[in-house]
Amino acid sequence: MNYFHYVENELWCEEVPVTNIAEEVGTPFYLYSHRTLDRHFNVFDEAFADVPHIICFSSKANSNIAILRVIIKKGGGMDIVSGGELYRALLAGVDPKKVVYSGVGKREDEIRFAIENEILMFNVESSQELEIINFCAGKMNKRARISLRVNPDVDSKTHSYISTGLKENKFGINIHNAFDEYHQAKKLEHIDIIGIDCHIGSQITKVSPFLDALGRLTNLINLLREDDIDIQYLDLGGGLGITYDEENPPHPTEYAEAIISRAKGINCTFIFEPGRVIMGNAGILVSRVLYTKSNADKNFIIVDAGMNDLIRPSLYNSYHQIQAVIQKERGLFSADVVGPICESGDFLAKNRVVPRFERGDLLAVMSAGAYSFSMSSNYNSRPRVAEVLVKDDQYYVIKRRETYEDIVRGEDIPGFLQE
Ligand SMILES: *Cc1c(COP(=O)(O)O)cnc(C)c1O
Repeated sequence: MNYFHYVENELWCEEVPVTNIAEEVGTPFYLYSHRTLDRHFNVFDEAFADVPHIICFSSKANSNIAILRVIIKKGGGMDIVSGGELYRALLAGVDPKKVVYSGVGKREDEIRFAIENEILMFNVESSQELEIINFCAGKMNKRARISLRVNPDVDSKTHSYISTGLKENKFGINIHNAFDEYHQAKKLEHIDIIGIDCHIGSQITKVSPFLDALGRLTNLINLLREDDIDIQYLDLGGGLGITYDEENPPHPTEYAEAIISRAKGINCTFIFEPGRVIMGNAGILVSRVLYTKSNADKNFIIVDAGMNDLIRPSLYNSYHQIQAVIQKERGLFSADVVGPICESGDFLAKNRVVPRFERGDLLAVMSAGAYSFSMSSNYNSRPRVAEVLVKDDQYYVIKRRETYEDIVRGEDIPGFLQE
């Protein structure tokens, strides 16, 4: 459920007509609903009310510091995957004791930055990484808390590019080696083992893969405890899917009930790293139709947002609903909604039945709150678009549109080229 809705054929976000924002901010822009974000967080949080838990929002889904701030003020923590994300989380005021750090390729400077800030734990993805964390902590006269990210080898039945829990994926430590790896970790002088972690993929629309993974993790926890390795945190990652089109993912309450009942008696603090389920349907991308054209057997709607602004359709062939910001009496037709980028892969929708849009119309690309702005780029030297947050009847520009100066910032013509 979200708070993008029609009032007399006009799309509003909460109490603000989208057209008003487009007129003042220009297009394209991302538009987020505070009330939707708030609701999604609450639903997820309340679903786990009966067990100790920390919700570490996956900040790569949407890393705007205003969005992070909303989550932090609600008691959430952060799942980070880089030093840059730690920097953002700290800027937004995160409690470092609620930060978990995942990722297969943590650099030493990033590891030191995280140790210095005393984050809750590193989700360690290889034995070499473990040694480097130990080495860095020793140099800094500190201790580092860790969990091992275990790859449980379960099929999450999602798109292969966003599946992460199969043994052929690059993520985590193979479940069969994890026991030995924990014993290695126990020998390291500057390491405290506190948890176990997995993240099996994204946009998962069934409960069973999560339960399979959980079962494998709880078995391992029990084995480790027999050997005096006390696991206090059980991090199940993120991955719960949302409805883009006709998917029917489990409601967070159903997901939570299944997990809580499967993990009965395990006596851990749960950590979850949801991203998409919190932010995906809390945002849209608003774009204006530049031109329409037809050739022999195809209609094209050319809009001012392209794959540099929203890459998900090009990257994963993912589906986003296209809606008119102002609904008019006009027929439907089948068309490709494409951007201005010089790539054939630059499309927002393909062979889609949409209203007969005309030049100047505004359209909304729905479910664009997660992995959308955060994946945008300056390709074709296009300034990144603005991000706007609506709360009730007010809106706030939480990232201004980039200028041409912004896009060349840091570039330099060396002296030998300057005559
Ligand atoms: C991307 C990611 C998440 C978030 O996944 P969602 O599908 O957005 O919930 C959580 N944990 C890790 C380690 C990730 O890489």
